[in-house]
Amino acid sequence: MYSKISNILNDINTVLVPRLCFGCNALLYRGEEHICTVCRNQLPLTEYTFNALNPVDRIFFGRINIIKASSFLFFTEKGIVKSIIHYLKYKNQEQIGAFLGNWYGHILKENNFLNNIDYVVPVPLHRKKLKKRGYNQVSLFAKSIAEHIGAHYLEGVLIKTANTKTQTKKSRILRWQHKQALYVLTEQEILKNKNVLLLDDVITTGATMEACATALSAAKGINLYVASMAIVP
Ligand SMILES: [Zn+2]
Repeated sequence: MYSKISNILNDINTVLVPRLCFGCNALLYRGEEHICTVCRNQLPLTEYTFNALNPVDRIFFGRINIIKASSFLFFTEKGIVKSIIHYLKYKNQEQIGAFLGNWYGHILKENNFLNNIDYVVPVPLHRKKLKKRGYNQVSLFAKSIAEHIGAHYLEGVLIKTANTKTQTKKSRILRWQHKQALYVLTEQEILKNKNVLLLDDVITTGATMEACATALSAAKGINLYVASMAIVP
């Protein structure tokens, strides 16, 4: 009886406040969360493993010293992933980060990937950007993954020092020099000799990850892994 009433109330709620799919804007049915079943089945998982080299590793070849890189989804100019991440970043849908983190974290755990990680660190936002958005869109993703792989979530030690955008027109070297100073590791001792997983939303050129990794490498003996919600193929 209770569940029947609860279902009816849910249906009324759906009529009053329609829940829409973040992938395609279709009306969500009872039991569907965040994205519809069609989008869920079409979500382009990279299926990259942490055992073999993949195109994410290749982005960082010769640039930064990392143990392994990977990414959960493919990001394309049109499509479900772009839409989901747009809602996550610009439409106050912070919970999408937990949704993606739980899914990816489950895959990592199932495959015994990253079972040696001590700390999971999200790419930080500048404090002004954080205040404006109200949340770091990578935080819940990182927290969920940390929970699944049995690591500690750590924020606040890696900080962004200037509120600037990626310098897309600069050469890689110039961009590297510019970005390097954009991120600073404020406490080095805590990450000394630790296995650290650095997470971001989308990897495009790899410049942000590179700058963060450079800052993190101030911690002696750090072993760095990087991953993201999505990768531009
Ligand atoms: Zn959909």
